[in-house]
Amino acid sequence: MNNPQDTSIQYLKGIGPKRAKVFNNLGIKTIFDLFYYFPRRYEDRTNLVTVSQLKEGEAQTIKAQVLALGLHNSWRRKSFNITEAEVADETGRIPCVWFNQPYIKEYLKPGSKVILHGRVERYGVKLQISNPEFEFISNDSEDTLSAGRIVPVYSLPERLGQRSFRKIMKTALDEYLPKINDCLPYDIRSRNSLENLAKSLINIHFPENFGLQEKSYTRLAFEEFFLFQVPLVLRKLKREDKSGIAHKIGGAMQKAFVLGLPFKLTRAQDKVIQEIKSDMAGLKPMQRLLQGDVGSGKTVVATIAAVMSIEGGYQAVLMVPTEILAKQHYEKINYQLSALSGKLKEIKVALLTGSTTDKEKNRLYDDIKEGRMDLIIGTHALLEARVRFKNLGLVVIDEQHKFGVGQRALLPGKGLNPDVLIMTATPIPRTLAITLYGDLDISVINELPPGRISIETILFNGEDRGKAYEIAKEELRRGNQAYIIYPVIEESSALDISGAKKMYAELKAGEFKEFKLGLIHGKLKREEQDKVMSSFKNKKINLLISTTVLEVGIDIPSATCMIVEHADRFGLSQLHQLRGRIGRGSSVSFCLLISDSKSQEASARLLAMVKYNDGFKISEEDLKIRGPGEFFGREQHGLSELRIGNPLVQMQLLKKAREEAIRLLKLDPHLTDRQNQLVKERLLQKFPEYEQMMLVG
Ligand code: ADP
Ligand code: MG
Repeated sequence: MNNPQDTSIQYLKGIGPKRAKVFNNLGIKTIFDLFYYFPRRYEDRTNLVTVSQLKEGEAQTIKAQVLALGLHNSWRRKSFNITEAEVADETGRIPCVWFNQPYIKEYLKPGSKVILHGRVERYGVKLQISNPEFEFISNDSEDTLSAGRIVPVYSLPERLGQRSFRKIMKTALDEYLPKINDCLPYDIRSRNSLENLAKSLINIHFPENFGLQEKSYTRLAFEEFFLFQVPLVLRKLKREDKSGIAHKIGGAMQKAFVLGLPFKLTRAQDKVIQEIKSDMAGLKPMQRLLQGDVGSGKTVVATIAAVMSIEGGYQAVLMVPTEILAKQHYEKINYQLSALSGKLKEIKVALLTGSTTDKEKNRLYDDIKEGRMDLIIGTHALLEARVRFKNLGLVVIDEQHKFGVGQRALLPGKGLNPDVLIMTATPIPRTLAITLYGDLDISVINELPPGRISIETILFNGEDRGKAYEIAKEELRRGNQAYIIYPVIEESSALDISGAKKMYAELKAGEFKEFKLGLIHGKLKREEQDKVMSSFKNKKINLLISTTVLEVGIDIPSATCMIVEHADRFGLSQLHQLRGRIGRGSSVSFCLLISDSKSQEASARLLAMVKYNDGFKISEEDLKIRGPGEFFGREQHGLSELRIGNPLVQMQLLKKAREEAIRLLKLDPHLTDRQNQLVKERLLQKFPEYEQMMLVG
């Protein structure tokens, strides 16, 4: 009762059932949630600038009155409309423009008094404010929350005004802060000079100066990092207590396999294999994350690990995110392993995917359970309950970002503490790896096999599409193959994007009519996709029109050119993955990015693609530009929980938080001490699965 954690926001003044719904949609259900809804930015309204003081190139805030309003279409592009408002204060007037936001005209009226915040830009000879945010000034002189101070600005839907949100926040803080409990134990706070929670919350929302805001920020970011690390650290400590399988390492089969490879392993591969060997030889179950750029040769490392498991009499399983990839791995690995079978015990490899027939599946389930299969390669289909192993020794999960955290845990559960190797081709900086995978040991393959020809990446404007087509045709005429990637299957005229389906028909009949074209996308039946892919492999198709279904893993050496349309609509890592589909053979490859985007962010991202070929560099850039939340996408568990902590910026703070988590759990692994009860409570609230974890594995 009365505790902000359990009190619904409906009990606040000014919030009825209807408003409560709007709040709920923001993830705000309780007063506590409200407190943790942090400002997106602040405006220093203690001294606003006047119109005459505005400077070009900077984001600034003014107080002004609307004189006139207009809405017109752009003369360059019909689908583009511009809302224009002339605003003024006693020192001068300035136009404000909004692109494609015609509803602004419904809100602003001549005579409205507003606070405007936006970037001042030069347009021709005049200055203007582009896409400013605005807020109406109240006539209520009592409104001290929104004037004459540092004012918080929140991310809110249109229906919810900034001013009323501030009022609700303040009322809630006044009433409920005295009842709030600080989940961070006192000794942790004092060791790290952190503010208490009540003070931090008031100063994050209504700071009197930026120094105080900063202090609160530090405290709240620490708390986030800390709560994030506790479950990871706990999982890691628990694993260290468990006994798994001590594999016999260094047998004849492993040696024969490595010697039989048509290439020499790189130094980085060797180093990583050593790390895996020593994990697998130990009793403690391996939990290792293998990071390596596209094409760095992770698959062969995984195969060697599988051979080690199998040689000692244990089964191994490899899970990948797509059907096409599973099949490709199956064929390649089967081929590599077959070289062994003449000399040594035969390794039996199975392929299990969603399109495996029921009859075949039933047979495979039996074979796997009875131990007649040694290595099982497949997709999500492996997670089904009917898949049981005789003695699972190694789990490998490829392209792990395509699987949820829950899914990650399912496969190992099918064995008795098997070793687990998780692979990702989206390499990320160390601090972020700790944030997300703090329960795992980390290995990195930081070099590509020698002899790779680097890929030329060129950025084109839509108007120069013809040039990109010419390069593609040139490659095709040489007998090479090419891809053209579209962001969507069906075109969207509203967004002005072309889709794969229509462009396939168009290009086939026009620009590329001398070549054989194919079309592949996620809505095709699996068998259809397979058919198209094998036609491409067999060169029955020269040019493949595709969506991002191609994203992971496909390995076709004679594909030397890729055009990506609307390249700005893809994440950088995604582009990098896509680009990894070419440059797999010995001839120079071309990645041709086409974009019409005028946004600065988009061009910064695309230029990073042109500049860097290294996946680490690219994710670093992408993270810098978009921030971790966007980088990983919404569904990536956890990072969206980081509302204010940014592991890339606050590395020291993250390290401290992790150290404190380790210290706490070493002393009190089950969080039974009295001073740790609030930590436990908060954790259970944040991660309900935590309860289970403390009890079992
Ligand atoms: P990743 O999964 O890391 O993207 P792959 O394992 O698919 O990369 O390897 C890419 C290609 O490089 C494959 O054709 C593989 O056989 C080859 N390869 C792997 N290791 C080496 C090496 N040390 N030298 C030469 N080629 C290699
Ligand atoms: Mg791979």
